[in-house]
Amino acid sequence: MSTSTLPPFPAKSYDFTEYVPARNWIDGAWRDAAEGRPREAVTNPRHGKAMGSTPLSGAADVDAAVKAAAAAYPAWRDTPMKERVQILYRAKALIERDLDELSWLVSHENGKTFAESKAEVLKGVECLEMGISIPNMAAGPQLDVSRGIKCETTFEPLGVCAGITPFNFPFMVPLWMLPQALIAGNTFVLKPSEKVPYGAVRLAQLFHEAGLPAGVLNVVHGGKDAVEALVDHADVKAIGFVGSTTIARLVYGRGSATGKRMLCLGGAKNHLLVAPDADLELTSTTIAASAFGCAGQRCMAAAAMVAVGDVQAIIDATAEVARGYRLGEDLGAIISPESVARITRYIDEAEKAGAKVLVDGRKAAVEGADGGYWFGPTVLDHVLPEMPCGCEEVFGPVLSIIRAKTLDEAIAIENASPYGNAASIFTQSGGVARYVMERVNAGMCGVNVGVPVPREPFAFGGWNDSKFGHGDITGWDGFRFWTRPRKITSRWAQQKDMTWMS
Ligand code: NAD
Repeated sequence: MSTSTLPPFPAKSYDFTEYVPARNWIDGAWRDAAEGRPREAVTNPRHGKAMGSTPLSGAADVDAAVKAAAAAYPAWRDTPMKERVQILYRAKALIERDLDELSWLVSHENGKTFAESKAEVLKGVECLEMGISIPNMAAGPQLDVSRGIKCETTFEPLGVCAGITPFNFPFMVPLWMLPQALIAGNTFVLKPSEKVPYGAVRLAQLFHEAGLPAGVLNVVHGGKDAVEALVDHADVKAIGFVGSTTIARLVYGRGSATGKRMLCLGGAKNHLLVAPDADLELTSTTIAASAFGCAGQRCMAAAAMVAVGDVQAIIDATAEVARGYRLGEDLGAIISPESVARITRYIDEAEKAGAKVLVDGRKAAVEGADGGYWFGPTVLDHVLPEMPCGCEEVFGPVLSIIRAKTLDEAIAIENASPYGNAASIFTQSGGVARYVMERVNAGMCGVNVGVPVPREPFAFGGWNDSKFGHGDITGWDGFRFWTRPRKITSRWAQQKDMTWMS
């Protein structure tokens, strides 16, 4: 299949729409996986029906992609950064041209609403803009360290790099990695989630249309086998991974053991602390939007509200906002029936253990809507931190409310979490906000913000079990991750009596 035969995704509504079978993109061409490799259905979660399929590639497919990337590397490395960036400018314009089509595609393969999908694609554009701005910042420092002696730092590419991405942001998460990695002069192999292969398929096509030379970006579809082949491949120099903590830890350990540079972002349990002086309307609507946006399938979702003292009015208002969410309109679908069953289990267990179900989303799971995979917004009160839904990642539209008597008790609950992606405080007091910001154990923090994702150029990345490896994945840190600094000391003076230390 040539580029021109990959049709645009035709959907213009939530109506069920099929798409072409996904194929690997290797060396500037669509290719089937090696003979004998299985294919898997790609399901539209809103309808619970297969909209397409994806190959589950193996080691031979990964090797072909890595070989293509290795062959493309010397010419791409030697292309001036100012020229490389022109391709990213064009890719940005093409994504903006196809904004609605891409947003419908993300909505259909992932299940999130059209508005959420559009926000995702636009956030991807923001990441691309960060990459585009790098040539203006990447001039390394240089200094005359002595008479006639100059030291300078240049940022060199690593070679063939790879990215492994999750189901919940099929378009944006690849764009956390690609702009910085490509601008730096690396070539790349992307392995998207097998549940949502199409965002990566369209990205590959758009970068190709923007003029990216063959082999600079390759896409290999698949699951565990493809990941392991990438992680073990001797010619892959660095890997960015985003997914659950269990797999992030595994991939980080396996890749690091081969000497690769690894940055692996994992799951989360984010705590939003609510003080009694918090603004009622802002806090209730913001916390609900954080907990239920993208049906709670966000690593930055407000999974736990820690209610400090008497904040009953805010809890009541948050539950009221939750009751107003319309399934399918304000709240998208859940990725799979297995996820619906897992979320249901968490609620059943919590109820049995004494939590109070203020808003119950289980009915939607049973009834379904349109035959898809659904779970309604759920608010659980009097959750204890040790209950599974009080400390584990539920990854669904469930807000667990944990009661605390004091701010210090609330901070201790947050600090005890093994994760460390996000934490927020809702208060009108600058002193309380500062006290909490100095003490929470998380990498991305907010004051009166429900989803404290740093806007570019502030980098994205958590702490503790939410991230394995050093640095953050976006922003300037992303550029540093995909490059290695070279330090050059030059002497142009001719005096024989001088050493470099003079
Ligand atoms: P996942 O861990 O199941 O999958 C992520 C990637 O790993 C996919 O490409 C998948 O094919 C691959 N994979 C799955 N099982 C594997 C195995 N046994 N061995 C090797 N590779 C394997 O995650 P998911 O369900 O796709 O995504 C949801 C998770 O991602 C949540 O935990 C969420 O918090 C997390 N996430 C984290 C961030 C972050 O920035 N920290 C961002 C988005 C999602």
